[in-house]
Amino acid sequence: MIDIHTHILPGLDDGASDWNDTLSMARAAAADGISTIIATPHHANGRYDNPAAAIREHVSRINERLAEAGVPVTIAAGQEIRVHDDLLDAWHRGELLTLAGSDYVLIEMPFSHIPKQMEELLHELSVLNLRPIIAHPERNAEIAKRPGRLVELIELGAYAQMTTHSLLGGFGRQIQRAAWELCESGLVHLVSSDAHDTGRRGFCLSEAYEAIRARQGEPWEAYYKYNARCVADNNPFGSRPVVSRSGDNALRRMISYLTGRRG
Ligand code: FE
Repeated sequence: MIDIHTHILPGLDDGASDWNDTLSMARAAAADGISTIIATPHHANGRYDNPAAAIREHVSRINERLAEAGVPVTIAAGQEIRVHDDLLDAWHRGELLTLAGSDYVLIEMPFSHIPKQMEELLHELSVLNLRPIIAHPERNAEIAKRPGRLVELIELGAYAQMTTHSLLGGFGRQIQRAAWELCESGLVHLVSSDAHDTGRRGFCLSEAYEAIRARQGEPWEAYYKYNARCVADNNPFGSRPVVSRSGDNALRRMISYLTGRRG
């Protein structure tokens, strides 16, 4: 399996704090069946700044050490980029990283709302031939309340990454409900761990896929897994499986919300 959103690099953010943490996380990932991990340290979130060059350097050193330690996991460089006014300039200055050298970029919105500049930003990123993936939309209060807002962002070219812990209840019942509603409405393209440690914010990727298989069916599990591979290989995502009856109802509610808003 491939995990496209993790905080496994040591000492860069609120994820792994040192090499021992990184090693434990890599071992836990391997035990969970993960072979490729994209490291996505926080960038420009007001607390952490991790420009591209620093991340690249860490990744090559950590891969050497993991190989020496015999851990069968490869780490690729990425970044979790917070929406901020300087984002496009930072891209042109070479400070931003896509995921594993692909055209996909992992974009984080604030938890409270969708930033005003989001729609314009998505447009500008598409002009640059970048494919923005919105990190954990289920944890954004505005989307959790009005999932139709995510439809609008997807229409502007965004993709959505669901976090394993949201599906499994680690962030509480409300987020869990929003998480499944988004998945069952066909608004989610990828599932990943956003792992920060080996404990409460561990990987749980196989557990989440198992839950998806049970609730949404095997084609959805295969779809999410295929798309994660597409990020690593820089291919377009697969075609979405058929949305079930319950998901269809949720989707209809969203579409009627959109129609009402535009009408
Ligand atoms: Fe994250």
